[in-house]
Amino acid sequence: MAYVITDSCVKDALCLDACPSEAIHPTKDEPAFETATQLYINPEECMDCGGCVAECPTNSIFPADELPADKQEFAAKNANYYKS
Ligand code: SF4
Repeated sequence: MAYVITDSCVKDALCLDACPSEAIHPTKDEPAFETATQLYINPEECMDCGGCVAECPTNSIFPADELPADKQEFAAKNANYYKS
């Protein structure tokens, strides 16, 4: 299980500094940061520490198995970001 970022993300990028495994992208240094509609967590890299949740001012991050019913699709959306 990994954590998942949903569409209320406003790309403030505070979670990036909180993540010990660099599992969140795009970073501010990556070209995709400007065009991405939100940030995404790589489920292969996430260590399930939960550190990003506390940093998120928009409450956009959930454990995959606690996603709200209307946000279920974001587990796949986060994973798919890393397949392209
Ligand atoms: S739960 Fe921890 S390892 Fe996973 S994305 Fe958040 S800060 Fe990074």
